[in-house]
Amino acid sequence: MFPRAFDYHVPATIGETLEQLAADPEETKVLAGGHSLLPMMKLRLASPRRLLDLRKLRGELAYTRAANGGLALGALTTYHDLARAPEVGQRCPVLAEAASAVGDLQVRNRGTIGGSLAHGDPAADMPAVMLALDAQLEAQSPQGSRRIAAADFFQGLYTTALAPTELLTTIYVPAPPARAGASYAKFRNPASGYAVVGVAALVALDTAGKIAMARVGITGVNDHAYRAAAVEQALVGVEPTPEALAAAAAHAADGVDPLEDVYASADFRRHLTRVQTERALRQAVERARAMA
Ligand SMILES: Cc1cc2nc3c(=O)[nH]c(=O)nc-3n(C[C@H](O)[C@H](O)[C@H](O)COP(=O)(O)OP(=O)(O)OC[C@H]3O[C@@H](n4cnc5c(N)ncnc54)[C@H](O)[C@@H]3O)c2cc1C
Repeated sequence: MFPRAFDYHVPATIGETLEQLAADPEETKVLAGGHSLLPMMKLRLASPRRLLDLRKLRGELAYTRAANGGLALGALTTYHDLARAPEVGQRCPVLAEAASAVGDLQVRNRGTIGGSLAHGDPAADMPAVMLALDAQLEAQSPQGSRRIAAADFFQGLYTTALAPTELLTTIYVPAPPARAGASYAKFRNPASGYAVVGVAALVALDTAGKIAMARVGITGVNDHAYRAAAVEQALVGVEPTPEALAAAAAHAADGVDPLEDVYASADFRRHLTRVQTERALRQAVERARAMA
């Protein structure tokens, strides 16, 4: 399939990109790694009249930096660079692990964290991880910039809180709480590598070894990645025994009507959601204990 004809521009700065985006926001798309947008254009699920290729912004927007005990990540950082950046490995190993688990080498070399988050694919890995890490996403428009909590960002099928005039520029990952561990448990589609179900969990222990706080982000199950609030609530103040983690994980798909497709029925997805949540929680607790 061929996409519809479109105009192609390569803006040289963020300012120029924002200006061009604002000129016709409904008919313009920015192009990052192109691994989601171009297939959608070929299938004519997206038919923008104008593409703004962000390749010249890599100098400004492809980076990983230590910031306030956590990380600042440029939106054009590829999965490959996330997976191998020393500061990501040291400060947020779960992010490096999840980036290594995306698709295949080609996808990881081209695909960007900003493209993944802005696209809002219901089976993408990064949204679940950003939810568990409580990341803040910075968007710029000609009107200025704003930060959006990951918990407010993913709103529906391929729908996020980004306005058509906004460019996602930076992802801020806060420093983890004391005695915290995190894990990402993914059941991969064997062909594409996308998550049939992916669960990111961050667990912090108190000085007595009980769970002080937990955040759980889930992808692949709903029409958008979500925080499993019932699991999180069930864990607070609890001794993290295998039984307690399993009991909490049983709530992972509460209030969700799981997606159904050729890869997994709704029942199988619900089952996988529980199993992967339990796995992610167990490993997060082990890692938290190692930090205590
Ligand atoms: C074979 C294959 C396997 C894959 N496997 C996985 C997988 O296992 N896990 C996974 O999570 N993903 C997977 N993907 C998707 C891949 O990760 C994409 O790269 C990613 O979803 C989109 O990133 P991108 O940089 O390619 O964005 P693009 O395709 O360039 O853009 C996607 C959308 O986001 C918008 N956009 C991009 N950057 C910005 C920005 N900075 N600000 C505002 N809007 C922006 C674009 O306008 C477009 O609408 C796979 C893709 C393929 C082709």
